[in-house]
Amino acid sequence: MNRLEEYNKKRNFSNTIEPIGKIDKKNKKRFCVQHHIARKDHYDFRLEYKGVLISFAIPKGPSYNTKDKRLSIHVENHPTSYINFEGVIKDGYGKGIVMLWDIGTYTEIEKFDNTFKKGYLKFKLNGKRLKGHWTLVKFKDDNWLLIKEKDNIKIFDDINKFNTSIKTNRTMDEIKSEIIITNPNKIIKDNITKLDIVNYYKKVYDRMSLYLNNRIISAIRYVNNNTFFKRHFRENKYLNKVKNKEYYYINNILGLISEVQMNSYEFHINNSNISDLKHPNIMIFDLDPDKNLDLNDVRDCVKNLKEILDKLKLKSYLKTSGGKGYHVIVPINEKLTWNKVNKISKDIVKIMINKYPDKYTDNIRIKNRKNKVFIDYFRNKESASCVAPYSLRIRDKITVSMPIKWSELYKIKPDEIDIKNALKRLKRVNPWT
Ligand code: MN
Repeated sequence: MNRLEEYNKKRNFSNTIEPIGKIDKKNKKRFCVQHHIARKDHYDFRLEYKGVLISFAIPKGPSYNTKDKRLSIHVENHPTSYINFEGVIKDGYGKGIVMLWDIGTYTEIEKFDNTFKKGYLKFKLNGKRLKGHWTLVKFKDDNWLLIKEKDNIKIFDDINKFNTSIKTNRTMDEIKSEIIITNPNKIIKDNITKLDIVNYYKKVYDRMSLYLNNRIISAIRYVNNNTFFKRHFRENKYLNKVKNKEYYYINNILGLISEVQMNSYEFHINNSNISDLKHPNIMIFDLDPDKNLDLNDVRDCVKNLKEILDKLKLKSYLKTSGGKGYHVIVPINEKLTWNKVNKISKDIVKIMINKYPDKYTDNIRIKNRKNKVFIDYFRNKESASCVAPYSLRIRDKITVSMPIKWSELYKIKPDEIDIKNALKRLKRVNPWT
């Protein structure tokens, strides 16, 4: 009997994107694990052997705990071309989503030829997520158990945390949706690729979404070293149109990733939430030093501003701009009009300037800002926007507008945080809580 007959019989190849089963003449020793959300959620574990993939469906997936015995149901052989398979099975047998969860090579510890009919397989895996010595042992009919053997291989104690594809780095939702990133290896700047930017936004999304979602977005697209400002809604099933306006907002990760796919790498937000566009719920001060000034001059200015805000009993939060200065954000809990908030911010800046007339200015003309820190309150106008917390800035290098603690004002430079630092800092508690 053809060792792929059952595989081919079960499938209608005019209806599935899975490969047609053909025996492979080569005899490689590869393995793969596919996370398969079908009628039941399970992992498919496949060992390449004599031109087919010997396959087991493991409901709970593999475990590194040597005490675990994971039920593994021996299912039909799959063709070796299945080893890279990932995607959506729209209909028929196995209908659901398949994510390539791990791939690698293996070595037989005992010859499968001798042990398979006896009901066990002993092998050593060399994948990215699964490594070391394992045994599959049959206990009844097609029911086997997958057991991790004790060895000195460094293990991942919680492999459930791997919820993205080893091949495309997509989550199940992303595979289901697609979004396919075109030109993933294109270098945007400083050896940072488009895929690096996609992965950055995926990792910061949970935190960033607190500030980004449900606000009118202004995105900056980078195409062939040119920048384009994008604020108008264009038909895209992952983005949302603001009611009665030509603008758009994001309210899920796919919206953000689809924007990055369209080469938008920098995101600016409006001060109001789309649920109440007439009343801003944040007030922003953008502090930028003249180029002759010392970094500590702008830091002193931020500190002085905070003192005034403290006296007014206004709670404030700090972030780096990713450029030359810092941003101070004040949440507004009352319903105030744009004009009112704009006036309050202006009055606060006037207090600063009256107190330190030689040091600070709110004059928008660059020549009038010589040797002064420019305190920009114009970002509190209804039409204005400010770079979102955790957004990248594509400058001479790629930086992040990073929320920091007040105690870090004199420790962190405005353009110091890059993608790597930002992701490290993400593991700490939110500095804004
Ligand atoms: Mn399956």
